[in-house]
Amino acid sequence: MLVRFWGVRGSYPVPGPATNGLGGQTACVEVRPRDDLLLVLDAGTGLRKLGRELVKEPPFALGQGVCHLLISHTHWDHIQGLPFFAPLYQQGNRVVIYGQQRDVHLSHIFSNQTQDPYFPVGLAEVDAEVSYRELVEGARFDVNEGAARVSCARLNHPYVAVGYRIETPEGLSLAYVSDTAPFDRIVLGYEFVKDGPDPDQAPSSDDASTLKAMRAGVVALCQDADLVIYDTMFEMEEYRRSPHWGHSTPEHALDIVQEAGGRALALFHHHPGRSDEAQAAIVRRVADKAHIEVMAAREGMALRCTGSGVEVVEG
Ligand SMILES: [Zn+2]
Ligand SMILES: [Zn+2]
Repeated sequence: MLVRFWGVRGSYPVPGPATNGLGGQTACVEVRPRDDLLLVLDAGTGLRKLGRELVKEPPFALGQGVCHLLISHTHWDHIQGLPFFAPLYQQGNRVVIYGQQRDVHLSHIFSNQTQDPYFPVGLAEVDAEVSYRELVEGARFDVNEGAARVSCARLNHPYVAVGYRIETPEGLSLAYVSDTAPFDRIVLGYEFVKDGPDPDQAPSSDDASTLKAMRAGVVALCQDADLVIYDTMFEMEEYRRSPHWGHSTPEHALDIVQEAGGRALALFHHHPGRSDEAQAAIVRRVADKAHIEVMAAREGMALRCTGSGVEVVEG
């Protein structure tokens, strides 16, 4: 199974000298359980470049490509690349969009994103065939008759966000956990929380059991995974200031991934204000205390899952 990063940044794109090393585009990860099966995690601005590469060769160049696009949630940094995804503008290609929503259909959300005056071409009018799969909490499903198995879990993030696990019949596995707050203080998702909670106040017992169940779901996604890609946008003081924004620190991620027996952790959804240099210092700090491999996700980096972790094959 091959994993390639096209966008690793959180919140908004920040290309420029301070971020050229890791990249400034927002969330997008290509996953190939096998060469002829394409899954894409999130449609942030990194998706544009992936699309341009795809249409250079078959099957997308011939209008015979299929892209399974798994959306974690519909905040801008996870969907902004979709209108610029070149395979959409070629007849015969198929894009299947997966995601979970609460009160509205996915098709409504994505059609609105490209409605006048936001964008000149509506998603319903593109040349490719676009279809939707609405997910429910804890969904599990096969793609291409079992060539990949996908499992989902709820994340602790405003509105609705879903984490994914992708497994191959050979037992290779990958978990994608973006975006999520840790599971210790505040339940996010039901209503807008304007201010962070009092840091010293414990959650109610209802909230504590919801958080415990959510955490168990995420641990299950990461169980013995070759690679876990995890939202680690915050440093601890940033988390303490804004726990209601729905993001974790590398320490929160490491805690979960090591408990789950995950073999490698890719820090992901980097803070838009974090330079390459600052991020490198964070990786060094976390790697020092980790029992597993820790790296920063980087645009252009490709990893191969080996069954006992990952190896870098590009970038
Ligand atoms: Zn995000
Ligand atoms: Zn978000």
